[in-house]
Formats: sequence, C-alpha cells, structure tokens
Amino acid sequence: VNVDVKLGINKFNVDEDNPHIIVKSQPDMQVMELLTKACPAGLYKKQDDGSVRFDYAGCLECGTCRILGLGSALEKWEYPRGTFGVEYRYG
Ligand code: SF4
Repeated sequence: VNVDVKLGINKFNVDEDNPHIIVKSQPDMQVMELLTKACPAGLYKKQDDGSVRFDYAGCLECGTCRILGLGSALEKWEYPRGTFGVEYRYG
C-alpha cells in the first residue's frame, strides 16, 4: 500500500484561519530543500522556479519539520488547536 493510500485513511480538519506551522518570510533554503525530502506527507513542494511551497493542510503532526527547521526555516510550529488537525484512523 503506498503512502497516499495510507494517508487517505486519515481525516483532516483544517483550521483555515490559523495555520499551526508558518514558514519564515526568508527561510533558509537549504533547510527548505531538506524539508521537501523529510516531510512524510510531502507538504513542502519544490516549485519549477526553485522555491518551495508549503501547505499545512494534511500535516501529520509528526514534528520532523519542527526539529529540522524551527528557527531557520519556520517561525512557528505548534500542534493544531483542539479538534483541528489530523485524526488517525486504523483499519
Ligand atoms: Fe510534514 Fe511532519 Fe512537518 Fe507536518 S509536522 S509538515 S507532516 S514534517
């Protein structure tokens, strides 16, 4: 089973007005590059112009980008507010 199928099992309730992760306006691009490979949900996407786009919807709250990027690439990393975020389903 590939990861997209697996991810399809989970349900996301996206807090549209309140991103729980915010990328800095001038992020360290080497770190951003790393995040395109490290995020298990593939939410950091390399663009044709070399920039990296991030969409917090679909975040698995694994904390990988927090460890790798908070301070250098990210200005905020928090768990989503109660009832928002990923709800893991099994089976
Ligand atoms: Fe991706 Fe994990 Fe960061 Fe969420 S916490 S954006 S799933 S690396």
